[in-house]
Amino acid sequence: MKHLKPLTTVIATLLIIITSCKKDSAPLSNADSKLAGKPQTEMALNKQARLRKLRSTLPATYRERLQKSVDKLLLTHPQYRNVARQALAIEPTECSDATPIRQWLNVELTDWDDDVIFFALVTGILDIPFLHTLYFENSPANQYFGVNGEYTHTIEKTFKDLKRFSNIQTNGMIIVGMHGKMLLDREKVIQFDRFYYGDSQEDAAFWADLITSLVNEFPQYRNGDHPIFTFNAFAVPRTEVGGPVGTIPNKIAMGDGIMDGYARIGFGDVAPQAILAHEFAHQVQFQLGLYDGEGSPEGTRSNELLADAYSAYYLSHARGASMQWKRVQQFLQVFLNIGDCSFDSSNHHGTPAERMAAAKWGYSIANNAQKQGHILTSQQFVALFNKQLPVLVAR
Ligand SMILES: [Zn+2]
Repeated sequence: MKHLKPLTTVIATLLIIITSCKKDSAPLSNADSKLAGKPQTEMALNKQARLRKLRSTLPATYRERLQKSVDKLLLTHPQYRNVARQALAIEPTECSDATPIRQWLNVELTDWDDDVIFFALVTGILDIPFLHTLYFENSPANQYFGVNGEYTHTIEKTFKDLKRFSNIQTNGMIIVGMHGKMLLDREKVIQFDRFYYGDSQEDAAFWADLITSLVNEFPQYRNGDHPIFTFNAFAVPRTEVGGPVGTIPNKIAMGDGIMDGYARIGFGDVAPQAILAHEFAHQVQFQLGLYDGEGSPEGTRSNELLADAYSAYYLSHARGASMQWKRVQQFLQVFLNIGDCSFDSSNHHGTPAERMAAAKWGYSIANNAQKQGHILTSQQFVALFNKQLPVLVAR
């Protein structure tokens, strides 16, 4: 945790909560379907024995690690709250407005039983792909986007386009993919574990090997490709961390899970570009020194509203992504309605209505421009936005 604290204040993470509504009936899990036609009791007993053995190998310190995972999930990673709540038998929240993306992720998690959740929490694997990407994925080389690279073309093209669209300095800014598959990369897990948990090489190797066994044991983890491992995207400014991390460059990361989720509910044509444009807008803020890293609700809200406005400006601008506004709006309707229930404070990231108002305003700036081909400088756009902000939040 040593270097995390200062960084969290500047990470603009796009977090999506999933509701804690339990489904009445779980669909047949992969595990069950694989067992079909085999003597099930014997298979089940073997599995129980293997799990007991795995549990018995956990070092005495495992409770600390478990507690750390759970605390962090409950506090800072609302998209995992449902998993943590299930593990801790916490009552579901009031927040049951079932947006399509939440419903989709909930269905993807219906076969996660207590063992699957316990081991996910005790090993920290819900967080490792994100944190490893944050600290160690610092080179633009060999990047791909989507579990099978299915978004690589779109993401690379949009990133290039955003750099052209904006007048900020983008030399040295990189974009990286976030993949759950890294959980099976022993060297990466060891490197991360030593840095983040401060473990010895031997202890780190133990956890890396345990994670590999677990990912192989539980089909629910889908070989690391389950979308929950990478259900976010973030932007981070250049940060000197030192030690094995060195320098984190200006960086945007795109998770496979979040892009897949939106594609699966019908927004594959707009979600990757829209999410990337939002994160790019945070880079604009970092560079202009306008990012409020204090973490106050008002500061966070204006950061997010500007990112929504800038992203809508780019997406709908004739010389930006030139998308139909109607289509952008349909996506934002789903995307922004995650707002209210996600955080303890409803002002945290702005309410869905405020965020949509900011996006509509960004669109109007592109659409009402006297010269359609003209692109405002980032400074001009921000100045206009700051004038509009009181109106956007006075709703
Ligand atoms: Zn944001």
